[in-house]
Amino acid sequence: MAGADIPGLEEYDIDLSFDEDEVRHLLDTGPEDVDPADELTFAKNVFVPLTTACRYTCTYCTYFDPPGEASLLSPEEVREILQTGADAGCTEALFTFGDDPDDRYTRVHDQLAEWGHDSIHTYLREVCEIALDEGLLPHSNPGDQTRDEMALVADVNASMGVMLETTADVGAHAGPRVKNPGQRLNTIRNAGELGVPFTTGLLVGIGEDWRDRAESLLAIREMHERYGHVQEVIVQNVVPNERSNYDRPSVETMRRVVAMARDCLPEEVSVQVPPNLSPTRELLDCGVDDLGGVSPVTDDHINPEYKWPALKELEDIADEAGVPLRERLPVYRRYLSDEWVSETVHSAIRADDEAGERYRSVLST
Ligand code: SF4
Repeated sequence: MAGADIPGLEEYDIDLSFDEDEVRHLLDTGPEDVDPADELTFAKNVFVPLTTACRYTCTYCTYFDPPGEASLLSPEEVREILQTGADAGCTEALFTFGDDPDDRYTRVHDQLAEWGHDSIHTYLREVCEIALDEGLLPHSNPGDQTRDEMALVADVNASMGVMLETTADVGAHAGPRVKNPGQRLNTIRNAGELGVPFTTGLLVGIGEDWRDRAESLLAIREMHERYGHVQEVIVQNVVPNERSNYDRPSVETMRRVVAMARDCLPEEVSVQVPPNLSPTRELLDCGVDDLGGVSPVTDDHINPEYKWPALKELEDIADEAGVPLRERLPVYRRYLSDEWVSETVHSAIRADDEAGERYRSVLST
């Protein structure tokens, strides 16, 4: 076993080492080594871009707006979006924002203060409560969080997530403030310690090499082996956009990375590809078993140029693969116990109301 050479491990006191044989095994793994899944799953979500402020400036990202231009949705605006989602039959409220958005954005900070919040994290709690009230289960992607910040919102989320992207030190994270893989792993560890069902993933094509991809997957697996909390791993390719012109990884590259993920991760951890960004049909035989969130009412605000496919397209994809398509909740079934889900979320799922019936009907499929 060799100690992992990942930026930030020491800073966050993360003990991680890789078995060289396992790295080599993954580097030798390809589509021919894995089996296709026997069903595909997806969730119906409503996308709520709580704020477009972010302390980082990742070069491939179109999500963040510079200080002075970033938006912050008010509780009324959030409620309106959520109501539309609930009316359309969604079960998941997907809250996204950049990393520590109130850090370098005075206007966002001042607005939060005006609404009675000293940080975005207490505001996130408020909007998660609105989501539960409107009949949706929150799944928050709030960037990196300390253990205390995550603890503040854990019980009002059905699940949470942050993309590891890569354990490598890549130029794509360049800028005055650089995203730190150790900090991402610390967030994933915080989720494990707090018992939060978690989504993470790889972003392929941002300057990492094949060894980095193998090590990123092994790091996620190690976190899951310690805490058992990783419900799904997204394998997403970078796409060209208005801010950058990254080459899309080839289909062959994506097939190999997806197969590596399937081979590396325990069977219970889903491997997801986003159909609006990836050559999904050509990846299905590499072990993909989840198509992520599809929104009937909102755009994908992280990749606005790439519209979500209609539900019909997901059905076509599953049909062509010859497997059933099943709707799921933002929290996977195996986590629906007191150990993983709070009484607040349990009560929402058991509630004798329209939303409770919708959740239970999804669970019964
Ligand atoms: S990818 Fe995430 S962390 Fe990077 S700039 Fe965009 S919102 Fe911020």
